[in-house]
Amino acid sequence: MYSELKGKVAVITGGSKGIGTAIAKRFGQEGMKVVINYNSDAAGAELAAEAVRCAGGEAVTVKAHVGTEEGVQSLVDAAVENYGGIDVWINNAGMENKVATHEMPLSDWERVINVNLTGVFLGTRAALTYFMEHDVKGSIVNMSSVHEQIPWPTFAHYCASKGGIKLFTQTVAMEYAKYGIRVNAVGPGAINTPINAKKFSDPVQYEETMSMVPMKRIGKPEEVAACVVWLASDEASYVTGITLFVDGGMTLYPAFQDGKG
Ligand code: NAD
Repeated sequence: MYSELKGKVAVITGGSKGIGTAIAKRFGQEGMKVVINYNSDAAGAELAAEAVRCAGGEAVTVKAHVGTEEGVQSLVDAAVENYGGIDVWINNAGMENKVATHEMPLSDWERVINVNLTGVFLGTRAALTYFMEHDVKGSIVNMSSVHEQIPWPTFAHYCASKGGIKLFTQTVAMEYAKYGIRVNAVGPGAINTPINAKKFSDPVQYEETMSMVPMKRIGKPEEVAACVVWLASDEASYVTGITLFVDGGMTLYPAFQDGKG
């Protein structure tokens, strides 16, 4: 628990399920006021909001497409109107689809880049604007992936978006460090969320994934949320521009496990 977070206001994009819901719940446990964004799943977002309230926080849900300026502005407006400001902004919304690069329709490329990268830019810009205008020493956390570092054939758009998040995060962190605004990323590995449900329920694909995880288990959304809340807290007050991997060791070249190679 981080006592200074009590009563602070957070915006979380893509909060209707998976990692976003786990972050919302964790913020609720900290006694925070949370704006939970969703794109289509209103019921999932309301469940997340109820979990925040049960945990001791406050929450409202807002439907918005993170790849649009008006959608992101509506998140700012909801935070200000309901809770009087913004202290923490989590760019979590993301998507992927598997397709060979030479067969990738431009529409697939544009959809993934729009949500995963343009959405992070628009959310970050909105948070920075609020922080600068109101002299808030706020914290921004961008949801990246191990695939900001590890190439992943047939997911070139996803890797491009996450690689983009890495250098965007570092650049903006440097640009706003002198104002006391911190900007970091979190890079999950294989986490048990709806995005992966089909993959992990297939025993062959599950074993394939395990061969890439030195800790030999799938991560929980709560384990990602624990790192996000730390980055948002004053305990991370001298940390900016990093990607904190939450991956059971996936980024450690697991092909070399047991002295192979
Ligand atoms: P998920 O599919 O369960 O959740 C993604 C969320 O993003 C959903 O709530 C979805 O509605 C939302 N979203 C999608 N498009 C949106 C849009 N246009 N506007 C607003 N919201 C939108 O996935 P997850 O596993 O919880 O992933 C969350 C983040 O973590 C993503 O950025 C993902 O790339 C990243 N990540 C996940 C894993 C993993 O193993 N689960 C690994 C690495 C990175």
